[in-house]
Amino acid sequence: MVLGTYKQITLARSTDKQIQKISQDGGIATGLLCFALDEKLIDGAVVAGPSDEMWKPEPTVAMSSDDILAAAGTKYTISPNLWMVKEAVRQYGLEKAGIVTIPCQTMGLRKMQSYPIGVRFVADKIALDIGIFCTENFPFESLKTFISAKAGVDFGLVEKMDIGKGKFWVHTADDVISFPIKETHGYEQNGCKVCLDLVSELSDVSTGSIGAPDDWSAVMTRTDAGETIFSKAVDAGLIETKAMDEGKFGLEMLTKLATSKKEKAMKVIDERKAMGLPVPFKASNEKEGDPLANV
Ligand code: SF4
Repeated sequence: MVLGTYKQITLARSTDKQIQKISQDGGIATGLLCFALDEKLIDGAVVAGPSDEMWKPEPTVAMSSDDILAAAGTKYTISPNLWMVKEAVRQYGLEKAGIVTIPCQTMGLRKMQSYPIGVRFVADKIALDIGIFCTENFPFESLKTFISAKAGVDFGLVEKMDIGKGKFWVHTADDVISFPIKETHGYEQNGCKVCLDLVSELSDVSTGSIGAPDDWSAVMTRTDAGETIFSKAVDAGLIETKAMDEGKFGLEMLTKLATSKKEKAMKVIDERKAMGLPVPFKASNEKEGDPLANV
């Protein structure tokens, strides 16, 4: 399945006005973590928190809703959240930890849990993994460079960044500038070129803007833990849902982009393999049948 295994797929958004104002899209990651913390379903969460440098996230252990709100919004450069898991458990004493991951980190998290070498009694404390859709990600210096070059704005004036409708959007206090997302190609991290997962297929709940209208998010619940927390938040009225559009801008769009990401990555993997370079997966001609069937 190109979108991974899921229990339900829906459109959703937080009903909290403050979360709507400061979050990206429907504010699902922020809303779910705040709800889970309030309900004691988790006792803290590893999130991409703010650092001394604007737009450069830093893994942070959020112990309150205020900490979670401070980390709201998408940053388009990596926050190595897995690096903070051990500290969250050992230093902060979390027994039921939440975490926000992007697909490559979701895979790392599941590997940690499957083979807890060096992380015994740590990896099994993760109670909720919220996976964020990810098309690509940029080294911080690349991000600064292409925003200044393509949007023609001082990086220090940027108030929000977004990817949608095939464009990269840059918001300042008095302007919104966009440029085609394809103009960012070449600035992304090298590893993103061989990344097969758009939708955090191994998370408990995954969410992102692809396939959703403005200010809503697509949400997939994937595990019992994810389904339970999401359903409780909906029942409590903190998240509202509506059916995902089956048309070409809804589920079809999400499926199309997830397929395209796998196909492009497999092509690069095959090319690298043919050159004798190390790759994270087997080349497609080493597998029987559909090369995408098992990824
Ligand atoms: S595209 Fe893949 S490898 Fe790159 S940051 Fe996103 S999840 Fe990670």
